[in-house]
Amino acid sequence: MRKNKNKRQPAKRKAASQTQNSKRPCSDSPKRTENPQLTPFEIFFKEIEKFSKLHMKDRDRVQEILQSMQKAGSKTLQVISDFDMTLTRFEYNGKRCPTCHNILERSDAISSDCKKKLQELLDKYYPIEIDSTLSVEEKLPLMVEWWTKAHELLVNQKIKKAGLAKAVKDSEAKLRDGYQYFFDHLNEHSIPLLIFSAGIGDILEEVIRQTEVFHPNVKVISNYMDFDESGVLKAFKGELIHIYNKKEGALLNTGHFQELRTRTNVLLLGDSLGDLNMADGVQDMENILKIGFLNDKVEERKQSYLDSYDIVLIKDETLDVPNAVIRFLTE
Ligand SMILES: [Mg+2]
Repeated sequence: MRKNKNKRQPAKRKAASQTQNSKRPCSDSPKRTENPQLTPFEIFFKEIEKFSKLHMKDRDRVQEILQSMQKAGSKTLQVISDFDMTLTRFEYNGKRCPTCHNILERSDAISSDCKKKLQELLDKYYPIEIDSTLSVEEKLPLMVEWWTKAHELLVNQKIKKAGLAKAVKDSEAKLRDGYQYFFDHLNEHSIPLLIFSAGIGDILEEVIRQTEVFHPNVKVISNYMDFDESGVLKAFKGELIHIYNKKEGALLNTGHFQELRTRTNVLLLGDSLGDLNMADGVQDMENILKIGFLNDKVEERKQSYLDSYDIVLIKDETLDVPNAVIRFLTE
């Protein structure tokens, strides 16, 4: 786990997706109009229901959770979020955006032979990852196999630590629209943001550093690279975190959750069913609101997402809904 100590790094790169008026919480949400008949909660809820990409199985339950969280106040709130395809975009201009692993795999740091092998792994294992007919238990060993093989290939490439910033700079990685408000607003209200990722911590940190949102309230649990004294990758550190073992990862990081024991209300953001376990280490949890991004294979997976996440955002490339929620919870 890393805690960011660098408050602000010099501007290196702004994500192309965030070009104007970054303080606006909801880029395409309707303007708020005063209605004396409605309570602030009703106004807020009507507003989020207008998002066409938002789906809920149990609207009353979502209302109940939100009201209870608001009553408890923002001092009891913590946010736990996945990174790849949750805080980052899934698609941009019709093209798939890269994950942390993809950023490295597509960079100059990797030979073409290795790229080919990594692509073969992706072709074999990604269909398994998103297969709605397989259980998590069935997928788990195969996901470990995928991650382990990919990490072995990367280690053999003798990647240099010094080249990571360039790999990120040259990549097509993009945080979702509205990211600036999301990161800045949480930081301004001293709300802890835990980014819990099966990606690569070093790359993830570089993405948020280059977009200037690596604020002091951000902590990261992820797979970190281990470099030798000459700055060459020799291994990955610690226990492997993959897409379906976030529960174990959460339980290994009890120290973090112990520090946040007064933060008993959780906003969880994810894009995989494995992300639902990210809050398993939270102590004395009172409420949890789970927002899930459903990016791919929508028809096959819609029902399972609706059954598991309180709010499902279908093919939504923005953080507008999470932003509306955090704005409401901090008002
Ligand atoms: Mg993800």
